Amino acid sequence: MRIITHTCPDCGTVVAANELEKNRVMKCPRLDCNTVLRFEDLPDSEREHFLEHRDQYQI
Ligand SMILES: [Zn+2]
Repeated sequence: MRIITHTCPDCGTVVAANELEKNRVMKCPRLDCNTVLRFEDLPDSEREHFLEHRDQYQI
């Protein structure tokens, strides 16, 4: 299974795509970082792959 993650551009915290997809918009999980991360920030190819295989990403 391909791991799809998004990296916060400000602090480098890595967030799993399934977390982003579940929340759509979420604050960076790092406490001292207020950057907002969006599922839409993922590249198109990664979003498409995730949506096509989303059942594999449910934990
Ligand atoms: Zn951050």
